[in-house]
Amino acid sequence: MKRHALAIDGPAGAGKSTVAKMLAERLGYVYIDTGAMYRAATYKALKLRIDLNDPDGFGFLADTDMTFVDSILYLDGENVGQSIRSAAVTTSVSIVASHIQVRNQLVAIQQEIARNADVVMDGRDIGTVVLPDADLKIYMTATVEERARRRHEENLANGRDSDLLKIQKDIERRDRIDSTRIYNPLKQAEDAVYLDTSHLDIKAVADTIYVMFTKITSGDIVKGENHNG
Ligand code: C5P
Repeated sequence: MKRHALAIDGPAGAGKSTVAKMLAERLGYVYIDTGAMYRAATYKALKLRIDLNDPDGFGFLADTDMTFVDSILYLDGENVGQSIRSAAVTTSVSIVASHIQVRNQLVAIQQEIARNADVVMDGRDIGTVVLPDADLKIYMTATVEERARRRHEENLANGRDSDLLKIQKDIERRDRIDSTRIYNPLKQAEDAVYLDTSHLDIKAVADTIYVMFTKITSGDIVKGENHNG
């Protein structure tokens, strides 16, 4: 049976995960947050105290279990939802994600999940590397000021300490590393639909994508056609 997939890529804080979660629920698909997997690899590496700059230290990933249950990532059986959002992990994750050894391991897991389920997957290289045949690819972005503002409000809403300027600096630094790395950098796939969400309501963005996606998967329009209107 052919599996369906919706790929959503873009820089940090563009609203990808909020939109992806909404869409997965509406479509009855599995939501896979690939950023959580790179964060989990970083979290475990920090715990093991390995040198994060040394790609050869990541052999432990071959014996690491990463499983999603109801969109929550379990690392070796442990729910790490909170721990992987710590400042220590956020600061180091882009270095870890730049190693090809790390990417190869995680991309293989992501592709295996998509072979066995209909998925909405978000990340940086989903349309370009992980799921090049996805039914629809979205490249979602917003100004860095708006992305930082959204993260800041999300933190405050969750009762976490938050410093807007620090968030913006971190986002800029991560975007720079993610888009200039040698392996699988953040970039828009040629056949992805570009969406600047700076002035858009996230719920409206999800509705727009839903319409495009269901048209494609119901066979109304062919992949690659103009999706406007
Ligand atoms: O999506 P999130 O901001 O949680 O991702 C954390 C980091 O994981 C990104 O800044 C990037 O370095 C890395 N990442 C990646 N490829 C993906 C998803 C995330 O390199 N597909």
